[in-house]
Amino acid sequence: MVAITEDEIRRLAGFKGEEAPVTSCYLNVDGATHVRHQDVVRELDRVLRIARARLDGDPSVASDLERIEAHVRGGFDRSRTRGLAMFSCTAHGYWRIVELPVPVHSQVVVNHTPSVRQLEVVVDQHERFGLLLVDRQRVRMLVFELGELVESSGAFDELPRGDDDDHSYTKDHARDHVAARVQRHLRSAAALAFEVFQAQGFERLILSTPEDLAGEVESALHPYLRGRVVARCTIPLSASDDEVRRAALEVEADVERAKEAEAVALLRAGVGAGTGAVAGLEATLLALVERRVETLLVSSGYVEAGWRCGACGWIGKLGRSCPVCDKEMSQVEDVVEEAVEEALTQSCRVEICEGNADLDVLGRIGALVRY
Ligand SMILES: [Zn+2]
Repeated sequence: MVAITEDEIRRLAGFKGEEAPVTSCYLNVDGATHVRHQDVVRELDRVLRIARARLDGDPSVASDLERIEAHVRGGFDRSRTRGLAMFSCTAHGYWRIVELPVPVHSQVVVNHTPSVRQLEVVVDQHERFGLLLVDRQRVRMLVFELGELVESSGAFDELPRGDDDDHSYTKDHARDHVAARVQRHLRSAAALAFEVFQAQGFERLILSTPEDLAGEVESALHPYLRGRVVARCTIPLSASDDEVRRAALEVEADVERAKEAEAVALLRAGVGAGTGAVAGLEATLLALVERRVETLLVSSGYVEAGWRCGACGWIGKLGRSCPVCDKEMSQVEDVVEEAVEEALTQSCRVEICEGNADLDVLGRIGALVRY
């Protein structure tokens, strides 16, 4: 499975169906809730029925739906796929499939561009991160992507048991000897972490060590890695891969919430000061079409109807004529989705916030702006 990246999402968001609309279909194919292939097909039938009922006779969209149906009915490997995203625009010969290791909300969206909001949520909520577990003798270096373990390496440096035949050592000597071995082990653990970082790359590192080793481990790390440490925890090295994975994802979710809270705090301060930030749907959409946005913040699950101008790309809450070019705009079911796509194509940072009450109070959407 090729993991979806932010770049790939930007590319998708950048595709415009000039001749005909783009059909996006998200399908929840999670084996936990959809055990048999038949269950997946039933889920597909449900969303296709809704989409076909709303079809306004566009032959390209009708053919998109057929292609999507054929792909799912034809079967696909579900061993690691829990969510499926398909994008089709027959008129342009456009067809993309993204397989995700996390479940999605099943839906069909017909719009002028691929609907990437759910993909953005998945990528934003599950950043690639490293986890370094170290104790006095063992090291494990793991990398997770979209909640899945993608890299695992480790080593075991046995410590002397202290019953060496060589009795010339005094107790003090033996203790120094062990301390030196531990030091060497920590250095090689740090080296392993750096090797994996260079090969795999990740933005954040979580450190798991016994509390009394945390300082030493951190100072042994390469400065690149030290700067990436976002959290510390104490997962035992004896834990199974799955136990480690669950513990790591909990820590990572806390880190993500903290990052969101930090961005919302900046937003709140900016809005309070009347500079550097805007909040609420209208002000945020305006900042976006004026290309002033640096970071877009959206409450996960926020949906609002609005308008979009096909001629100049203006998006707004109110229609029907475009305030810029005066052309008649088209109504869109979810102008928040339009905002996310616009932000992605402008290469803004997008932060989808999970259960952040402060952002909800500010109108569920806002932006840190350049001026
Ligand atoms: Zn316009």
